[in-house]
Amino acid sequence: MEPASHIWSDGELVGWDDGAVHFLSHALQYGSAVFEGIRAYETPEGTAVFRLHEHMVRLEDSAKAYAIPMRWSADQLDEASLELLRATGLKSAYIRPQVFYGLGAIGLDPGPAPVHTMIGAISLGAYLGDDGISNGVRTMISTWRRISDETLIPTAKGSGGYLNSVLAKQEALAAGFDEAIMLNERGGVSEGTGMNLFVVADGEVRTPPVSAGILEGITRNSVIELLRSEGDTVCEVDITRGGLYAADEVFLTGTAAEVTPVREIDRRPVGDGKPGPVTRKAQELFAAAAAGKLDDFRHWLHFA
Ligand code: PMP
Repeated sequence: MEPASHIWSDGELVGWDDGAVHFLSHALQYGSAVFEGIRAYETPEGTAVFRLHEHMVRLEDSAKAYAIPMRWSADQLDEASLELLRATGLKSAYIRPQVFYGLGAIGLDPGPAPVHTMIGAISLGAYLGDDGISNGVRTMISTWRRISDETLIPTAKGSGGYLNSVLAKQEALAAGFDEAIMLNERGGVSEGTGMNLFVVADGEVRTPPVSAGILEGITRNSVIELLRSEGDTVCEVDITRGGLYAADEVFLTGTAAEVTPVREIDRRPVGDGKPGPVTRKAQELFAAAAAGKLDDFRHWLHFA
């Protein structure tokens, strides 16, 4: 990770090395925090943050879900992110806001600990690699099941819950794959470790619904809207493991991963093993929207 010049800490811009937390912070002990991941793109008209406000609203929703009181509103955090981008001079960036419990409680009840808010911004290339974006990634179905509503809150980005994704990612990498696909506790397809999943089959585009234990991704929503605007049929339906193996195309979507084709699942090629036409179309539409080239979707961009 390349350091940036500044980081935003509880309302102030401080030097990259000056944003500190205590070792005994509640969030470090127990993962009692919520976070977001947001991308800003370099465009001919300047740096554009993609769906900034929606991300900050999701941060508020995550905090509410885990009962973490927030000091700053989504509007204030929008402004803070833009201020941070201007201070760092980053033309494109991955922005990481986090709301977390600090020092003040050693037991499980975080109540006595103060709540801190920070926003970091760094440079980030293709999350699953340039080859992954161009030719597709190799995946395996994880032996780990995606977190469920019975134990955690899949629709919220709670930091502690991400140990589930860490286990699946490490397992996939150790087995020689690029990424893991996680099933839910019913054995249905849920999503990747930090990205949603789409399949193309029988001439339609399908993605698992919220009830499949997914995080309701903002890139997922963007791709659904973009493909529908082109006349494609996109359905939110349960997908089985067999349906995944049989699909003509599979791709992953996420802020970090953008639109990444899947070329292999459990050593079976997806389609003919090359990214298919719908995947390419989704990639092109998403890139055009992020670059401000689609008039109908310019409201998704927030210029720094
Ligand atoms: N699922 C999980 C578990 C994630 O962490 C992410 C990344 N935020 C996504 C899906 C994709 O969401 P988004 O498109 O909003 O980044």
